[in-house]
Amino acid sequence: MASAFPAERTVILTGAASPRGIGRAAAHYLAEVGWNIGIIDLDGDAAARTAAEVAEQHGVQAAGAGANIADREQAVAAVDALEAQLPQVVALVNFAGIASPTPYLEVTPEEWDRVQSVNLDGVHWVTQRVLRTLVDNGVGRVVGISSVSAQRGGGTFSKTPYSASKAGVIGLMRSIAREVGPFGVTANCVSPGPIDTDIMGGTLTEERKTKMAADGVLPRIGTPRDIAAAVAYLISEDAGFVTGQTLNVDGGLYMH
Ligand code: NAD
Repeated sequence: MASAFPAERTVILTGAASPRGIGRAAAHYLAEVGWNIGIIDLDGDAAARTAAEVAEQHGVQAAGAGANIADREQAVAAVDALEAQLPQVVALVNFAGIASPTPYLEVTPEEWDRVQSVNLDGVHWVTQRVLRTLVDNGVGRVVGISSVSAQRGGGTFSKTPYSASKAGVIGLMRSIAREVGPFGVTANCVSPGPIDTDIMGGTLTEERKTKMAADGVLPRIGTPRDIAAAVAYLISEDAGFVTGQTLNVDGGLYMH
């Protein structure tokens, strides 16, 4: 049975501590529209610093926790710690992810595992733990961050292990959507095209940005704010009839 959307509510964001990343931009954007913020990141100090900055600038409650989400125990402990400090957890957005530019025939077993363990297993560990809370409360929103790379067959900085992991995120969210829908919880994906962050081997030059934009129908690459706004919609109360979907925020790279 579905319950009411609480006025005092928390969103947990993984991977929201990198200074020019999408997650950090989303933390500010979501705090601005009233969400309390919990941040889980590999870099625990940066997570705590980002949380303190968000709390101070937007007058919400915020806390950070350090965890490698590829490790189930660390992932679960981080969610436990945030839940103990913040108002009711209503949403989770899985931003934490890593790139992998290795050509497929050169992918070692270690490289394959490194990518899947964060981009897919890690998303699963955090999502499963948070869903226990959302289902118990009868209200919640989960968002996975996929990539246009999963939908168009690579063609981006990151190659096959990354594409496969990000396609996995779409399958994970769709299947979860079906299982938890009866409990008032939605699960969706945002699928970004190229976004101006440092994940593609460092800060992008103007030349690289122009090249990446040339493939889409809009004359630019995306900004972290483009993704933050899409996420804000999908976790909002008003998106309660939207589930199992993938929202492409990619400048028209993949039309579907
Ligand atoms: P980013 O590198 O700036 O941020 C990634 C964050 O995840 C960092 O804060 C990092 O510390 C954290 N992280 C990495 N491994 C972790 C782990 N094992 N446990 C916990 N935290 C971990 O990258 P970004 O560009 O902001 O990417 C955010 C998400 O968006 C990623 O999932 C990425 O794959 C996805 N994405 C990005 C683009 C793009 O063009 N930037 C395009 C499509 C999808």
